[in-house]
Amino acid sequence: MIDIGVNLTSNRFDVDRQEVVDAAIAAGVSKMLITGTSVEESRQALAIAQKLPTTLASTAGIHPHYADGASDDFIEQLTALAAEPEVKAIGECGLDFNRNFSTPENQVNVFKEQIALAEKMQKPLFLHQRDAFDVWFECLAPFIGNVPAMISHCFTGNVSEMQQCIDAEMYIGVTGWVCDERRGADLQAAVRELPLERLMIETDAPYLTPRTIRPRPKSSRNEPKYLPYVAEKIAELKSLSVEEVVAYATANSERVFAL
Ligand SMILES: [Zn+2]
Repeated sequence: MIDIGVNLTSNRFDVDRQEVVDAAIAAGVSKMLITGTSVEESRQALAIAQKLPTTLASTAGIHPHYADGASDDFIEQLTALAAEPEVKAIGECGLDFNRNFSTPENQVNVFKEQIALAEKMQKPLFLHQRDAFDVWFECLAPFIGNVPAMISHCFTGNVSEMQQCIDAEMYIGVTGWVCDERRGADLQAAVRELPLERLMIETDAPYLTPRTIRPRPKSSRNEPKYLPYVAEKIAELKSLSVEEVVAYATANSERVFAL
């Protein structure tokens, strides 16, 4: 099983990062992609991955929340990071108009530069999108087919948005959001229609703990070891075996990220 989105640089893992990785491996998670969300976090993600390169890899990018703080030379910094063999994608990058921690203008500019970088370096794009679908898709549209792959990480949209992504040959990263009986209804409907050839799975740990874990964990911190709960929910929604879901998600992730 491959977790394509773990925020292992989070300070919530500072006390036991190695144990978290070990527990995930014991739970059947053979590989994890550590998400980079700023130049500094991307550097840390790479450093963690380099310690265990058979199991860990990373991404390098600037999350839309941090677009306002991007330095003038951030593309040079990301270019250097992306040249390292452990860095498998540019991102996470994208647009988040839900909370607008950075101005929409800066978000769009920083996003577009990273899309162009992915094209130049021929790396997959690891994408974030929240309440910004139409503008986000417009930014990406000219590059469809010109970057090796686009992965809509932590997809939380509806069936029609998912269909637009599928038509653009994107991959869809499904998190424990799908296990949420309160707010996951749209995603559950979308997952039922999602072709297995486009599926990837992720925890987005330490966020989005699956609400289907029994017994319920005492800590609110999500961990990559809970990835099987995401696969189980997808299997249930699609009336497939967990093994089949995992086999497709693993093959897609290995191929796209060269893991
Ligand atoms: Zn995200």
